[in-house]
Amino acid sequence: MQIADLKVVTLDYSLKDDEGTLIDSSEGRGDFVYLHGARNIVPGLENALAGKATGDEVSVAVQPEEGYGERDNNLLQTVPKDMFEEGADISVGMQFHAQSPEGEMMIVTVVELEDDEVIVDGNHPLAGVSLNFDVKVIDIRDASAEEIEHGHAHGADGEHHDH
Ligand code: ZN
Repeated sequence: MQIADLKVVTLDYSLKDDEGTLIDSSEGRGDFVYLHGARNIVPGLENALAGKATGDEVSVAVQPEEGYGERDNNLLQTVPKDMFEEGADISVGMQFHAQSPEGEMMIVTVVELEDDEVIVDGNHPLAGVSLNFDVKVIDIRDASAEEIEHGHAHGADGEHHDH
């Protein structure tokens, strides 16, 4: 079987930046399972995996535009500290759900604290980063009707889950 749309794919992977620093890895967490063609993974990796077979090893360098996008400095915002709950223990690196001006949910990261202001960054933490994936294809199977309906995989053996 080859990787194509509506296949559920199990991968081993590691992800490094251009300096060779490990960003993420499936090691120690169990294999990574996703539904191909449903944009569960970044486009650059999904495109590189199309047509691969079980056992194939793939190394791919994904540029930001095919990954988590370029950094957008308009997503850096200064907000008054009193927008946060009184007594909230805010520190650099904390992440919050927030609403964008267009009304979409986004995750913002606190990047700087000043006396009565907080600077938050709405960029994805990996925006602007080149992503170097080393991937091994462990398994490929057909997606179930339920997985196709949900738009994501239900684990390596497709077991039911509630949501
Ligand atoms: Zn589901």
